[in-house]
Amino acid sequence: MGRVALVTGGSRGIGAAISVALKEAGYIVAANYAGNDEAAKAFTDKTGIKTYKWSVADYDACTAGIRQVESDLGPIEVLVNNAGITRDAMFHKMSPEQWREVIDTNLSGLFNMTHPVWPGMRERKFGRVINISSINGQKGQAGQSNYSSAKAGDLGFTKSLAQEGARAGITVNAICPGYIGTEMVRAIDEKVLNERIIPQIPVGRLGEPEEIARAVVFLAADDAGFVTGSTITANGGQYFA
Ligand code: NDP
Repeated sequence: MGRVALVTGGSRGIGAAISVALKEAGYIVAANYAGNDEAAKAFTDKTGIKTYKWSVADYDACTAGIRQVESDLGPIEVLVNNAGITRDAMFHKMSPEQWREVIDTNLSGLFNMTHPVWPGMRERKFGRVINISSINGQKGQAGQSNYSSAKAGDLGFTKSLAQEGARAGITVNAICPGYIGTEMVRAIDEKVLNERIIPQIPVGRLGEPEEIARAVVFLAADDAGFVTGSTITANGGQYFA
């Protein structure tokens, strides 16, 4: 039997590609999502991957959701913290609510999801935690002080936990995607995308969700045990951290 992998925000965008790639690599996959039931149902119908609804911003909901996944599928050995949101605004216009929502989901979500699975990974002496950060957590981005702060925090979390998990056979790594062609990015004005964003990407195009999924499959593998605390940059050459 394959290992059990849980992907947050695993029913759409990059997360959906990660869920599918892990399934194809032999994992038993659970995909969490927040509220878009229609997308989750369409995803399950298409892939056969079971979906679970809760918010990663809610610690108790994460604990209960993880318990449910483990009772259905078995202990979670691979956790992909992919769920994320944007609430963009220039700082002088940013509301406390916009700040909080992004920090709660994109940063505290990693604590809320990893904390309940960590003891089991320590006991079994095996675990893979893969955090999807962002190029904008590495370089900062005007209009995204909330998002960039959370994503930079994800990298600090990754490096600290990597040190704590090392002796217990748990690796913790991050991936920083650049601009990937998902709904999050397609929501950007087309003119801005074509005239300002794509020209900054040396490979001359948006990335594909599958290109991030491939890196996740590499980090999740049993024989990737010496790779921990690292950040894989996947941004078409746009920024070298
Ligand atoms: P999408 O908006 O396409 O999908 C987001 C997914 O996350 C959905 O499945 C959504 O669920 C889920 N989600 C959102 N909030 C929560 C929550 N509170 N609890 C559980 N699930 C939640 O995003 P992308 O695929 O574009 O992004 C995925 C990750 O990659 C994010 O962390 C993002 O910050 C990061 N990233 C994306 C880049 C890009 O260019 N797209 C670039 C760099 C980083 P539901 O369907 O129910 O809404």
